[in-house]
Amino acid sequence: MDDLSILYIAGYGRSGSTVLDVLLSGHPRVASVGELVFLGNDWQDEDRKCACGEPYENCLFWEGLFKDEGEVDSLEQIVRDVEHRHVLPKLLLGAHSEEKKREYRRRTRRLFEYISQQGRADLVVDSSKSARQAAGRFWALKNIAGLDVRVLHLVRDGRAALRSVVEKGSNWALEGHIEEKRWLGARTTMGWVLANAIAWGLGRSLGNDLYHRVKFEDLLRAPEETLREIGGFVGVGLEPVIQRVARDEVFEVGHNVGGNRIRHKQQIHLRKTDTPNPHPWSGLDRHHQILFATLGQWMNQKLGYSW
Ligand SMILES: [Zn+2]
Repeated sequence: MDDLSILYIAGYGRSGSTVLDVLLSGHPRVASVGELVFLGNDWQDEDRKCACGEPYENCLFWEGLFKDEGEVDSLEQIVRDVEHRHVLPKLLLGAHSEEKKREYRRRTRRLFEYISQQGRADLVVDSSKSARQAAGRFWALKNIAGLDVRVLHLVRDGRAALRSVVEKGSNWALEGHIEEKRWLGARTTMGWVLANAIAWGLGRSLGNDLYHRVKFEDLLRAPEETLREIGGFVGVGLEPVIQRVARDEVFEVGHNVGGNRIRHKQQIHLRKTDTPNPHPWSGLDRHHQILFATLGQWMNQKLGYSW
């Protein structure tokens, strides 16, 4: 356990975290497991499967994790009680009972230990990000579970993230879990602002050596340099991955949680492009342009995206 580190990908969805997650899993010392925050929830839902296509209890990677259904249920419960955005003030004030903190520590340490053993890895990549369900996750993993966590805040131009949701619908609605909500554009923009504000604010509170921000556009434009930068931050030489990217290789998707969202692509191929988002406003209709200019552009500018 002492040798185990966690690279936590923070930020908002639709920002390229699946691509980065799968690229990193191309390193022999790295186990990337996708959106780990959803493990308990997905395990109990028969429609949701590991990215390998199997239900979790039959998946070769995950099958040995829990003794019974009660353990799945209690992990899901404690993760929600500690990490959800609704309880973020309680988390930051340290107001959870000692018993709850002990239980959270025990369960999450066991989970990461299991992943590290199964994946024969000393770096586990958790790309749960920072939206509602996982707002306090990396902070709790570091400060309650006492794990060695580094936060990589992956950002993408908010106009591209908004366009993706407006054009394709939200992930949860796409999979038939919820009806598409009204005010999708405004909700998405506010969710994007909040997730980035939380990732940034809480991330920096861990200290400069534990927080690093990267643009998804830079990964597309200059993948080798950006991966080298990430490797430097996390203290793992990513040359095996960088060489595969340079050779334009395809990367296999492993046993990621949140697999329904990526299972239509069993493989990921990084398409290098010099101009990832050449006309950021023109992808949005007039209504969404005004919406994002009003609610989101201030954050976009802080993250380094000009008008
Ligand atoms: Zn699997």
